[in-house]
Order: sequence, then structure tokens, then C-alpha cells
Amino acid sequence: MKKIKRKYFILFAVLLGIFFCSIQEFIHENAGNTISSGSKANGSMQNAWLLDYKGKHYKYFSPLSYFILDNAYLNHRVWSTLEQSYKLMTEAYPSRKFKVMETARQNGGQMLIHRTHQTGLSVDFMVPKIRNENESPFWDKIGMLHYLLDFDPEGRLIIDKKTQIDFECMAKHILTLQESAKKNGLEIRMVIFKTNLKDDLFKTASGKKLKQSGIYFARSLQPIVDRVHDDHYHIDFKIRS
Ligand SMILES: [Zn+2]
Repeated sequence: MKKIKRKYFILFAVLLGIFFCSIQEFIHENAGNTISSGSKANGSMQNAWLLDYKGKHYKYFSPLSYFILDNAYLNHRVWSTLEQSYKLMTEAYPSRKFKVMETARQNGGQMLIHRTHQTGLSVDFMVPKIRNENESPFWDKIGMLHYLLDFDPEGRLIIDKKTQIDFECMAKHILTLQESAKKNGLEIRMVIFKTNLKDDLFKTASGKKLKQSGIYFARSLQPIVDRVHDDHYHIDFKIRS
């Protein structure tokens, strides 16, 4: 009996902990301008905006990351950029469910598993996928585990080779991000994406435009950084001077 009581007490304490951790996201209001200071690897943010967990045109990828780790904050200019670019993408891909991965903590600064993302100007975007030429949301729903997915040099998911990266959709998204960024006083500073997948990305119709656009893709990455940027593409924005 005592054991059961203790179990319930632990469960109650955990639920209470989850409630208090997530309250910040429920009461947050986006208003005013964000101030991003310092560098992406040593910076901070004031008056951050919070992504919608379930936006009109996109969804955040993990409740754990959103409500418990508080990792879905960003600069207001990037927030608007994402909204506008996903609106354009939804026009081109009406039934596609786009997913945003981690952005930044409410006040910026260091966060788990990322060396950068400290000023609210960096975003991880989940690669769009297709399976047998059809949209394939199955692997988009595994939350934080998505960061552990590996793709082969042709962009096929190692554990499910019929699922592959939709390079055309991804290239188009980066182009719409640049277009929307400019409307918000930003531009893309750098894209980080696994080096051996870039040729497939640039081969597509939108990929060719992307290559000509001058948007900078990181060229030489440390092996560990290169290895983990296949399930998502990381984009740093900068405020235009
Ligand atoms: Zn990142």
C-alpha cells in the first residue's frame, strides 16, 4: 500500500513539474521588438517571440523541446520570416505539414546539444520527406529522436530506404526564406547542411536557382557537425545593415 502511495506521489510531483515548466509557454505573448546581442555562439536575446506549437502553416516538432526545454523562442524578425515563408510554401504544397525544429531559449544563451542558437537568429528546419513519391509524415513525428536519424549520400533514410529527402521542396523553402527574410530586414547568413547531400539539393529545379542565388552554404564542416546536419538544415539569419 505504501509503495502504491509513493508511486502516486512521484507521478503527482512529475506532473506538477511538467505543469510549472510549461506555464511559461502558455502565458507568453509576442509583442514589441526583440534585441539580439552578441554572437551566435556567445550571445543573448531580450523580448523573444515564441513560435506557435501548432501554427497555421507549420508545426513545432517536439512537445518536450517546446514546453519543457523552452527551446522554441526566436527574434521577432525571424518569427515573421518563418510565418511568411511557410505561407508561401503551403500555397505550393497545400497538404504538406512542415516542421520547425529547435530555435533558442527565451533569453538566448547556451542550450542543450547546440553550439550556437544563442541570439534567436538561428533555426533548425526538419528536412521534408517523401516515401515512394508521396508525402511522408511518419518519421516527422518522433520528436527529439529526429535529430538521430541518418541519411545516406543519396538522401535516403538509412532505417527506411523508401523514405527520402524531398530536395526540391527543401530548395524551394530556402528560397522563400530568403525572400521573406528580406521583407523583415534580414538575410540568410549561412546554411549548414550535410556536405555530401548538397549535390542532390542543387540538382533540382529550385536547387539550381538556389545555387545561383548566392546564399552561402558552409563548405568545410567539422566531421561531427557535418554528420548531424542531414535530418535538418540549420540556417543563421543576420540583420541587414
Ligand atoms: Zn542548428
